[in-house]
Amino acid sequence: MIETLCYNLRVFKRLLLNFSLSLRHVNHSRYPLRINVGFLINQPIGSSRDIHFEFPELHFPPDLDVTGFNGVARISRTPQGLLVQGVFEAGILAECVRCLAEFVQPLKINFSELYAFKYKSISESGLLLPEDGNINLSPLVREYLLLEVPISPLCRPDCKGLCAVCGADLNETPCEHQARIVIG
Ligand SMILES: [Zn+2]
Ligand SMILES: [Zn+2]
Repeated sequence: MIETLCYNLRVFKRLLLNFSLSLRHVNHSRYPLRINVGFLINQPIGSSRDIHFEFPELHFPPDLDVTGFNGVARISRTPQGLLVQGVFEAGILAECVRCLAEFVQPLKINFSELYAFKYKSISESGLLLPEDGNINLSPLVREYLLLEVPISPLCRPDCKGLCAVCGADLNETPCEHQARIVIG
């Protein structure tokens, strides 16, 4: 009897492991950040599950494309709903305001949002847990990523920019105009 129970527990553990591994590599083409969190609704308060995401390239409709997207969403059961705590990083293509070179701007986001069970517990973000337990993190993650995009991107903190006279990229070669300015 106990042996059967132990065996069942082992099988159950392996199933859980397979479940988390499969999520890591899942890529629904249309909704890559959609997750089913319904299984947590009937779990005790305080239960949580980490869901990992990793995509070399990811499109956030309608207009945001990123590379190297990866991170974790921790979903926790609270009395009012499911709390999503996301920690993600990604890169977007940006143009340096000084030298005009294109470069990959790294972005890091960290957020907590409640998907409420009922309207009365809804938070400022107005997120309600859908009845089918499927939530699509894409619109939320997109908003947070956009907030992190710098207004004046720099390819590196000490970018020397372009010469105002000849347009030379001063990161590569100092031009004659710069030398004259330095000498004074
Ligand atoms: Zn630059
Ligand atoms: Zn110059």
